[in-house]
Amino acid sequence: MQLQSMSIKPKLIWLNVLVFSITFVVALIGVPLYAYLEGFETSTIIAAIIALCFCELSITAGYHRLWSHKAYQANIVVRFIYTIGGAFAVQNSALHWCSDHRVHHHHVDENDIDPYSAKRGFWYSHIGWMLREYQAHRYHDYKNVSDMQRDPVIMWQHKHYLTLVLLTNFGIPLLFGAITGNIIGSLLLVGFLRLVVSHHLTFCINSLAHMWGKQPYSDKNTAKDNPLVALLTFGEGYHNFHHAFQWDYRNAIKWWQFDPTKWLIKSLSLIGLAKNLKKIPEEKIARSIAAQQLNKTQGSLLKLTLPNKEEIIASVHKEYEQLLKQMSEFYQAKKDWIEITKNQLVENVEKSQLSQQYKELKKQLSEQQKSWQSLIHQYA
Ligand SMILES: [Zn+2]
Ligand SMILES: [Zn+2]
Repeated sequence: MQLQSMSIKPKLIWLNVLVFSITFVVALIGVPLYAYLEGFETSTIIAAIIALCFCELSITAGYHRLWSHKAYQANIVVRFIYTIGGAFAVQNSALHWCSDHRVHHHHVDENDIDPYSAKRGFWYSHIGWMLREYQAHRYHDYKNVSDMQRDPVIMWQHKHYLTLVLLTNFGIPLLFGAITGNIIGSLLLVGFLRLVVSHHLTFCINSLAHMWGKQPYSDKNTAKDNPLVALLTFGEGYHNFHHAFQWDYRNAIKWWQFDPTKWLIKSLSLIGLAKNLKKIPEEKIARSIAAQQLNKTQGSLLKLTLPNKEEIIASVHKEYEQLLKQMSEFYQAKKDWIEITKNQLVENVEKSQLSQQYKELKKQLSEQQKSWQSLIHQYA
């Protein structure tokens, strides 16, 4: 009886099934066929790429980092543009999207609560979760986004979502096609292909970014860091960092890592359109990396059959404590040094003394890091 009830799948959401399959089939068959028979103009290809970036960044910088996580604040014009891009991306209203996403973070990997739990497999977390009434009971429950309900821009988009979807998805390609004199080409590329690619790139955040990659910050959930997934998802592929520090406006913390969403937010702040960009303190991040390395090393050591295992574990812990001590001293010195360089009244002699101390601690920490790395790599 129980087995029978478990095998009954919830009702299909036909609207979603049709939208995903029709757009997919047109993009898969119509686009190459038209390319072969007529060919696309460069201007249409460029317009489709720009439209794709508009959709993706509205989701990543707007729906995700601004609204779901309150990682920064944005000007009303920026918020308005995000709501248009979000409707163009056909990913539900910002209010609904963020409600789902907050549940995802709060109950990550809990199969019955996380709306797109990666533990239910690739298909489910990628697209399957949207094809059936899996969570109909909480479809109109917006308690976890009550803060967003105070923003008139969000409520305006929520109320007119369907109209905005139709206006942007037909209006923008038709308008561009009318200007360039190639309506069919524009509908296929700026309309259909852009939408399908945009959908699946975002969907990779819920599927691939929870399945493929490394876990430098935490292994308490399935979220992974993967530079290739970051390339596909406008920076969201540094998902292990994101789940560990969800309030940070960055997903990639190194300058050379691909995170155009972070670059957009930073640029907006430089021209006064965004403010209060939240950043997790460097020391906290460094500590969580070290803690995760300790965890992994200890885990591997416990699996090994070594006569002096206890001793090795104790020495790893000792080295770890030493590293944390060195970190505290270095980051404190860094803080003091930054503070004192801002103070005009402090004598230059004192400044150079602190600078010397800071450099010395930096060197010591780097040496401590090297010795820690070589120790843990022996047991990795
Ligand atoms: Zn998130
Ligand atoms: Zn996630």
